[in-house]
Amino acid sequence: MTRVFNFSAGPATLPEPVLRTAAQEMLDWHGSGMSVMEMSHRGKEFIAIHAEAEALLRELLGVPANYKVLFLQGGAIGQNALVPMNLLRGKTAADYVDTGEWSKKSIKEARHYCSVNVAASSAAGGYTSVPKQSTWKLDPNAAYVHICSNETIGGVEYHWTPDTGAVPLVADMSSNILSRPVDVSRYGLIYAGAQKNIGPAGLTIVIVRDDLLGGALPITPSAFDYKQQAEADSMLNTPPTYAIYIAGLVFNWIKAQGGLKAMEAHNRAKAAVLYDFLDATSFYTSPVAREDRSLMNVPFKLKDEALDEAFLKGAQALRMLQLKGHRSVGGMRASIYNAMPVEGVQALVAYMKEFEVRHG
Ligand SMILES: *Cc1c(COP(=O)(O)O)cnc(C)c1O
Repeated sequence: MTRVFNFSAGPATLPEPVLRTAAQEMLDWHGSGMSVMEMSHRGKEFIAIHAEAEALLRELLGVPANYKVLFLQGGAIGQNALVPMNLLRGKTAADYVDTGEWSKKSIKEARHYCSVNVAASSAAGGYTSVPKQSTWKLDPNAAYVHICSNETIGGVEYHWTPDTGAVPLVADMSSNILSRPVDVSRYGLIYAGAQKNIGPAGLTIVIVRDDLLGGALPITPSAFDYKQQAEADSMLNTPPTYAIYIAGLVFNWIKAQGGLKAMEAHNRAKAAVLYDFLDATSFYTSPVAREDRSLMNVPFKLKDEALDEAFLKGAQALRMLQLKGHRSVGGMRASIYNAMPVEGVQALVAYMKEFEVRHG
């Protein structure tokens, strides 16, 4: 068996030890005689798996006691609707900061439920930076302020936490959650789809301050009412049990690596291998402002886009996959989440150098 270096933006590469444990436990989890997939979500085995996953996530992120952790379905795109449905709490407007494709989607969806004030946008600059907070025009009556902490497509990441005063800050952290420590207490709500840095698709994580619960619009489906799900320990309906189990294994793996500080050091070192090379050549270019470059998703362009096809083919021959950039921006994109080893990035850079010598 040879595994590839998978640079996919999501679903993405997972830590190999996690996959090995899952394989070993596939037919018989801890002597239960069952696969986790076959367990009742109300049985003592699964309740223990669920509780351990939540406890580990709380420990890794240092989630304060007055926050609920929910394991839901519907993805981050589902949350684009569920956030306004749950958090408007009688208000009629919300602030959004527009930093790229994912922010745009969040804004478009929120407009079905409330009046959206785009407090700042980097659209004019082609979504290559995060607007400085000094330029934001926040509405003091907004129900919340929404940001996308890492734009997975554009490769633009917040390396600072906005200050929104008494108005709750909401972040779509789908593609950088658990990549480094965050101060959860600065946020009212954090959400993330699992398939980038956490585990398989199908699980959506919501971390929400408990005083924000209880004001959902009457039309909110019960399965997506944060308060009802919090009261039911995320088991109002059948949760995505297998995805929660794998997420728990990933949390354990992160803890064994030394937690989020160690993840950050590993991710910084890894991203530097690629960005340092991009800065040293003119054959490839990085479009993103230096201070806002993502540690997780690295878009880059070849000098001559006629070479894109040959670049991708050569990478594939060396078992480096999914390097094609998103259709909305073109070029290339290397997604280098927690589970991507530094060897993967080193192999990519070695190939990029060799390709440049051949075609430069
Ligand atoms: C992947 C991604 C999404 C979409 O998640 P789904 O699970 O497909 O709903 C939303 N926001 C960001 C930042 C993402 O990276």
